[in-house]
Amino acid sequence: MQLADRMADFDSSGIRKVFDLASRMANPINLSIGQPDFEVPAGIKRAAIEAIESNKNGYAVSQGMPVLRDKLQARLDAEYGRGERDVVVTCGTSGGLVLAILALVNPGDEVIVFDPCFVIYPSLVKLAGGRCVWVDTYPDFRIDPERVRAAITPRTRLILFNSPANPTGVVAGDDETRALAELAAERDIALVSDEIYREFCYDGPLVSPARVNSQTLVIDGFSKTYGVTGWRLGFAHGPRQVIEAMIKLQQYTFVCAPQPAQWAGAAALEVDMSEQIAAYRGKRDRLLGGLAGAYEVATPGGAFYAFPRAPWGTASEFVAEAIRHELLIIPGNIFSRRDTHFRLSYAASDDTIDRGLAVLRRLAVR
Ligand code: PMP
Repeated sequence: MQLADRMADFDSSGIRKVFDLASRMANPINLSIGQPDFEVPAGIKRAAIEAIESNKNGYAVSQGMPVLRDKLQARLDAEYGRGERDVVVTCGTSGGLVLAILALVNPGDEVIVFDPCFVIYPSLVKLAGGRCVWVDTYPDFRIDPERVRAAITPRTRLILFNSPANPTGVVAGDDETRALAELAAERDIALVSDEIYREFCYDGPLVSPARVNSQTLVIDGFSKTYGVTGWRLGFAHGPRQVIEAMIKLQQYTFVCAPQPAQWAGAAALEVDMSEQIAAYRGKRDRLLGGLAGAYEVATPGGAFYAFPRAPWGTASEFVAEAIRHELLIIPGNIFSRRDTHFRLSYAASDDTIDRGLAVLRRLAVR
């Protein structure tokens, strides 16, 4: 079977290697997982079960079931002003990203991505025939608007922004966000803001670039906030023209987000997750406390990741040694053109975090 040429752009070997190793270990210390370890709140589970049992199992309308979409729209109206932003319910945040890129990027267009970034961004850009232009953010993972300005060419179509960020956990400062949003508006470049970790902000609420630049397309979702990564539920909001284009694309690709998940998502919007978020703030502090003095790490203000510098060797070499000590972590070259840092996820029990820290402290000096 001859595969399409574009398949060369999808290389999942690095991350798969870590997960393959994990599956063969009896009791690994797993700090590699990109999903919350808390249970889905009972009311949200019940809403999904009730939806299935009351036969809400058919197709949903492509733009999203009114039960959920109207609620999301009311929230956006309250936050941004009535009718300012349209919304579409998507198949996870990933589904929203796919639709956004396909709706906005022409073959040959350039897309600015920040290094490091979430693994699927470069592949999605290539899927649309676009070209990634990387803007480096090491060592503090802050966005320098002047570097972005220097990366813009007449072919630049879109900037892909993510805060709180995967893999660094860094939350962009209000100044950075404002400068980026203004730059995109000034140069008439689309700005896509992936806000999947928006609720996981520990040192103050997230300021979206959409507050500054109303043309910003925001991609958001339920996966992380409610621990429902397997339900494939997300949403996107932005100017009507792009949301309508995304609905059209969804109709001919994903068709709709799963209907039972949409009913449960509507229930989820009424659930207060502040206790779980506060617990994750505690885990963040626990991890940083344990790394202090031994590792160089940019303060992660959000998400549930930290991205320390490998204390010796390349990140891949260091991670291989960690795995030999039963500690599962992800080398930075999965997310980056550099192989100098590694991702820790603290979406784990305190005991797992402590065991991981013990190994890391032992490995800090070779
Ligand atoms: N964006 C970022 C930055 C992520 O880290 C993830 C999940 N790891 C996603 C999007 C995709 O999430 P979803 O499950 O909603 O597709």
